[in-house]
Amino acid sequence: MVTLFRTVGILAIAGGLLWMVVAELVLHRSTGAQVRLLLVAGVVFLVGSLIFSILGRVSAKVASRRCRRCGKPVQTGQIYCSEHLRDAVNEFRDHQRQKGDGG
Ligand SMILES: [Zn+2]
Repeated sequence: MVTLFRTVGILAIAGGLLWMVVAELVLHRSTGAQVRLLLVAGVVFLVGSLIFSILGRVSAKVASRRCRRCGKPVQTGQIYCSEHLRDAVNEFRDHQRQKGDGG
């Protein structure tokens, strides 16, 4: 979303400037209103992308996960901290082994 907005904004500004140069140098036409519209749209999209990236960062901070066992902050997408992740993997492996023996 942020990348899309930023790309559209940059394209709109670049397109507006290009259109202004081409129209004035090649077509010898005044394009003030059209160029202004494109530049304003580009700035709006760029500001929107900035707001989205700030919102994304803030919400990532708010939703940052904590270890289920000790409450230590962990990386996004992780359930346990590195210590407890190892414990959980070992327990899972033991559990699987027991199931295999009984099976
Ligand atoms: Zn932990």
